[in-house]
Amino acid sequence: FAKGRGGNQYQIYRPGMAKDLSRKVLIEQSLHKALGNNEFFLVYQPIIHAPTGIIVGFEALIRWHHPLLGMISPSEFIPLAEEAGLIHSIGIWILKTACLQSKSWQKEGLASTYVSINASARQFDNDDFVKTIEQILDETGLPPHCLRIEITESTAMTNVMEMISKLTELSRLGVNISIDDFGTGYSSLSYLKKFPINTLKVDQSFVRDISKDKNQEAIIQAIVALADSLGIHVVAEGVEAVEQYLFLQKMGCQDMQGYFFSKPVPPEQVEDLLRNGCSFLLDIV
Ligand code: C2E
Ligand code: MG
Ligand code: MG
Ligand code: MG
Repeated sequence: FAKGRGGNQYQIYRPGMAKDLSRKVLIEQSLHKALGNNEFFLVYQPIIHAPTGIIVGFEALIRWHHPLLGMISPSEFIPLAEEAGLIHSIGIWILKTACLQSKSWQKEGLASTYVSINASARQFDNDDFVKTIEQILDETGLPPHCLRIEITESTAMTNVMEMISKLTELSRLGVNISIDDFGTGYSSLSYLKKFPINTLKVDQSFVRDISKDKNQEAIIQAIVALADSLGIHVVAEGVEAVEQYLFLQKMGCQDMQGYFFSKPVPPEQVEDLLRNGCSFLLDIV
């Protein structure tokens, strides 16, 4: 038995705890070598303009194939990379790889889509972060308006003044800014208006409950209406079912992302997606 956080509460020892801890230690240790060993790769999930079925962008999502543990989810290792200070070098690798990849699709004349890249709060602690992005755009030749930086609502709400100033610099470069997982934090849209944002990504949890929960529908409706009036684009995440797709369309939410359209795919398959689009959507409506 271990004494809990003060008071009279005791935490009961579970047999799995030692195993969880050793997994964490193993992951932390191997994270230091993962970049050098080429264990990371990126997959890309299309973002679709629903009324036309045209792919307007891709979200780059990191994957890690661990030599012993197999695939490890970014939700598990990104927080550990942040703790260990490794997110800076990993983040730069992600930016370089995604921008280079995107530029090469443009060179092949496949499309003028944007690439959306997740950045964690810690990356903004580095005073050179914006300069690094500018350099990567320079080196890769990707036009700034083809890059979107996604930060979660809670990242936006840490060090608000500093965040606003850094995002303003980024947006002066011509880079677009997305607020990710919107609706899960404690901000309000009118407050977020102080930020130079272009896009709001409505969190999957709202989309999941469509048609189960009338309140969630009302919330989505309100977000779309308010975002519209502020001139902010809305992307719905986690669209898995045709009913969700149809409902969101009815709400005036034009851009969507989710398994209904495509899972995240390796770069080789992006070219197929760009060639064939999501024309199957036109048959639905
Ligand atoms: P996120 O940025 O909100 O990314 C969306 C997550 O939802 C992705 O999970 C994606 O694969 C998943 N997803 C997409 N469509 C659907 C759907 O229809 N249904 C369901 N159930 N899920 C869907 P993933 O790739 O496991 O990433 C999880 C989180 O890890 C991301 O959430 C993001 O916060 C973080 N992450 C992923 N890649 C990166 C990265 O390159 N850098 C940083 N800093 N964080 C990353
Ligand atoms: Mg994201
Ligand atoms: Mg999200
Ligand atoms: Mg998320």
